[in-house]
Amino acid sequence: MAKAPSSSPSSSRPLARLPLLWRWLRHWATIGAVEGIEPADRLKVIFVNVSAMIALLSNVVFNVLFLATGTWGLILSGLVQWPFALLTGLTFWLNSQGRYLTARACIFTVILVEICAIVVAGQGTVLSVHYYLLLITVLSLPLYRLSEWRWCVLFMLASSGLFVFFEFKSWPEHSSIEALNPTWIYFLRILVMGSCVAIAMWIVLMTAVASEDYVLRLQSLAMSDALTGLPNRRAGTEQLAHEAAQSRRAGTSLAVAMVDIDHFKRINDDEGHDIGDLALRHVARLLREGLRNTDFIARMGGEEFAVLMPSTTLTQACGALDTLRATIASTPFQWAVTAGKPQGKRVLTVSIGVVTIAPTLSEDTLLHQADVALYKAKALGRNQVVSYDAVVQAEKG
Ligand code: GH3
Ligand code: MG
Ligand code: MG
Repeated sequence: MAKAPSSSPSSSRPLARLPLLWRWLRHWATIGAVEGIEPADRLKVIFVNVSAMIALLSNVVFNVLFLATGTWGLILSGLVQWPFALLTGLTFWLNSQGRYLTARACIFTVILVEICAIVVAGQGTVLSVHYYLLLITVLSLPLYRLSEWRWCVLFMLASSGLFVFFEFKSWPEHSSIEALNPTWIYFLRILVMGSCVAIAMWIVLMTAVASEDYVLRLQSLAMSDALTGLPNRRAGTEQLAHEAAQSRRAGTSLAVAMVDIDHFKRINDDEGHDIGDLALRHVARLLREGLRNTDFIARMGGEEFAVLMPSTTLTQACGALDTLRATIASTPFQWAVTAGKPQGKRVLTVSIGVVTIAPTLSEDTLLHQADVALYKAKALGRNQVVSYDAVVQAEKG
């Protein structure tokens, strides 16, 4: 008979615990970085928390290594770090209280004084620990806002001043360190300098990633409609220019439709603006669900939407849009109690004007023709799809 494993698979593999460790690290890194504060500030709060975490981690690592050397001068310079470790913990608390500027001042002051204490307590400058002061000089730049430049300058001057002082003065180490094997000294110095470079690289990398992410987020905000989540007018006109150029190049058809909710004003008048907003979301959702992945839909303003259907003939577009119209008409808009209004239900309909691209037509003319067809659909009694071709035919006839 097969023997049951003595422990669960996840507990026997240390890497299986990584997600938990990751969640834990994320929790500490994001303390105080609540939703609602400015994205730029949020990032600085995370930087401060991560800097505090790095400071605590390096305390532990260097204390273990100093103990391993058995050298009193180094052990002393390790022990002197512990009161500062407690003060570093204060940074998380300050951030959690929303006192971001004080948290920044706290971490910088603690590290600044800690480095001086390490040097004076016995380590001297033999391991080049004072290079961390140079790191603080650089770190001050991304961690402060432009409006807080005085704080930034203060810490830059203090840290660079102390660095220059220790670099030129070469503070002597405890006599016990002089007896230490030169390989140990060499190894520890490489570790101190290496960690300085690694932290600087990490900060540069994080700043680059975060600013790119920030730009992308701003771009997406500038291109989307806050109420429905659909692309907005700007995105709609940009996409139309792109699709029109593509279809002209490839010689394929492109259908452009304008969709307008019928008598929408009545909903606002009868049920209130909040319910009107929900009605807009309802129609936007049905439009999104009823179209193909290759189709593009944007809220052009008010209760008007534009639909772009690449590689679609007029007949195909009219068929698909009429199905969409029928779906909207047969899916009543229902709402729960909202802003003091009782729950309710209303049937909504849309009118649609559609046109297909011709090689000589500009995008503005396309939109105009789709609008002309839309107003014809309204004039004919609403809740219907009308093509611009049909309008022209009717005028000729
Ligand atoms: P028609 O069938 O001719 O299109 O009539 P309509 O009432 O739909 O058109 P009209 O242009 O007279 O009214 C559109 C209304 O849409 C007026 C405006 O207050 C409302 N509206 C525009 N944007 C929003 C919005 O974001 N939220 C809400 N609730 N209403 C909006
Ligand atoms: Mg309308
Ligand atoms: Mg309208």
